[in-house]
Amino acid sequence: MLNKIIKLSKKFIKIPSVSPYDLGCQKIIFKRLKKIGFTIENININKTNNLLAFKGKGKTLIFLGHTDVVPVGNIKKWKTNPFNPIIINDFLFGRGISDMKGSLAAMIVATESYIQENPFHKGRISFLITSDEESSGNDGTVKVVKILKKRKEMINYCLVGEPTSNTVLGDVIKNGRRGSLNVNLIIYGKQGHIAYPNLAENPIHKILNFVHQLVNFKWDKGNNYFQPSVLQISYISSGIKNITNVIPDFLKINFNIRYNTEINKKIIIFQVKKFLLKYNLKYKIKWVHSAKPFITKSGKLLKVVKKSIYKYNSFFPVLSTSGGTSDGRFFSDMNTEIIELGLVNKTIHKVNECVKIKDLLSLSIIYKNILKNIFI
Ligand SMILES: [Zn+2]
Repeated sequence: MLNKIIKLSKKFIKIPSVSPYDLGCQKIIFKRLKKIGFTIENININKTNNLLAFKGKGKTLIFLGHTDVVPVGNIKKWKTNPFNPIIINDFLFGRGISDMKGSLAAMIVATESYIQENPFHKGRISFLITSDEESSGNDGTVKVVKILKKRKEMINYCLVGEPTSNTVLGDVIKNGRRGSLNVNLIIYGKQGHIAYPNLAENPIHKILNFVHQLVNFKWDKGNNYFQPSVLQISYISSGIKNITNVIPDFLKINFNIRYNTEINKKIIIFQVKKFLLKYNLKYKIKWVHSAKPFITKSGKLLKVVKKSIYKYNSFFPVLSTSGGTSDGRFFSDMNTEIIELGLVNKTIHKVNECVKIKDLLSLSIIYKNILKNIFI
């Protein structure tokens, strides 16, 4: 089993599938799944490739993943060629091995092995693999899930292969993610000579109290599943570079709110507008809502994942909802249980991305055990 996983992981790494390009990874997956009886569709939208596969009948478990990777960064800092997989001291190096080509290989080999032993298995196994998880995400999972909804497909369980483990494989799984709202704001003032502020309105001065209140505002206290919601400013600009005697007439500010299930988009918008009004600001605002929060508090998938990890590791995983959002969010209004379990995330998106060889096998064994128990 381990040799198979390593071989497949290496094949994936050799393909420089920098997001949103798949460049043939999904062809490999297509061939492997076809061989074991899956019905497969390629749903290609603009530059993005999506693969949707099903086998069996009844309750459905979908493996969710992506073949794209982030750029290599400073290539001089890599000890190895990022697209030439090499094993050094029991670690496999290559861009995307932990996020998440190694997980893909583990899923596929687990499924092959499970189907070989259980050709007439209960339930339906499915794969949804995209190539734009690391970029815009516009033409990937979100679009395929729309198609699934149109077809009135029931997806009971969604197992996401994102790298959730912190130090030991299976030590952390995600049973939810925070929502994310981006705000692009322009504050207007009145241009003038810096020596005559009474004849102008300085948008930089005008915004100070507003920003202070905004960043110190306590949105909520969090709950059993989520940390408190947080707001972070990502960008501020105003004025004309190197011009020292002009009060500018506008200011741009962008911020992001990672929010939990205690609040929602409406509450955030209401509160931000209230502050804008309080400080009498003239503004233009754009809201970009990229994710609703989701949580799987309990259910069969959670139970089976926890048990499978315990069986292998002799300890239960910690449940977490921290970090960025994931493609799992697109299933949040389909009545689907969503759990994320993947490799150790220490080196993801970094130079010298690598994974312990043994972890690839462990993950595959755990995935196979989940398949064994989810349809019982
Ligand atoms: Zn990823």
